[in-house]
Amino acid sequence: MHELAITQGILSVVLEAAEAARARRVLTIDLTVGALTGYAEDPIRFYFDLLSRGTPAEGAILRIRREPGQGHCQTCGATFPVEPPLSPACPFCGSVEIRIHGGTHCLVERIEVEDEDEHPGGEGHPSGQ
Ligand SMILES: [Zn+2]
Repeated sequence: MHELAITQGILSVVLEAAEAARARRVLTIDLTVGALTGYAEDPIRFYFDLLSRGTPAEGAILRIRREPGQGHCQTCGATFPVEPPLSPACPFCGSVEIRIHGGTHCLVERIEVEDEDEHPGGEGHPSGQ
């Protein structure tokens, strides 16, 4: 399962950011998962629940945004969204000269944390120093 490794990576990024922000608890996590990474949402949620137990990220809400890939036909110039299963040809002219951009990211966009001493619901700054 690819998702186990990627979820471990996500969690470590989140916990590092939470620690840097001196957060008591992580409330929400905004994730971008590219459609072309092959990662499914459900296993990520499942592993996250499992791995985050006993950490400040336990119970955090995962908001997952799917990022579609974009195909650009080198023959007719058309652009079109690309989702697996991948079509090997341009849907407009049938050319196989296609370049694909995007859709390959899997990253933590931002997290929202509850601060240690301040009022709850404060916004976290993952890179706050
Ligand atoms: Zn085309």
